[in-house]
Amino acid sequence: MKRKWIGMSSEVFRTIDNLGRVVLPSDMRRSLGISEDDEIELSLEKNRIVIRKRIPSCIFCGRKTHLSEFDGKYICQGCFLLLEKVFGKSADVRQGGQE
Ligand SMILES: [Zn+2]
Repeated sequence: MKRKWIGMSSEVFRTIDNLGRVVLPSDMRRSLGISEDDEIELSLEKNRIVIRKRIPSCIFCGRKTHLSEFDGKYICQGCFLLLEKVFGKSADVRQGGQE
């Protein structure tokens, strides 16, 4: 593992293994509160791969508060109540946004 500190910002150089894996530096994980088994979000932005700690959000509206989890997906209270109103309380609400 090679690490270089350049100027005031930190740039860390890592080698990607044959399976495409890379180890995130522990000090970076610690500073973002990322620990083992946490989910992270990867996105491709122009010529960069951006890694963020995943913040759960409603699969329908994107809200990040008052969430309930169903099979690894999140729905907010507002969307849940709306679905309940549309489909009724006995609705078979499936996960994954099936239509
Ligand atoms: Zn919602």
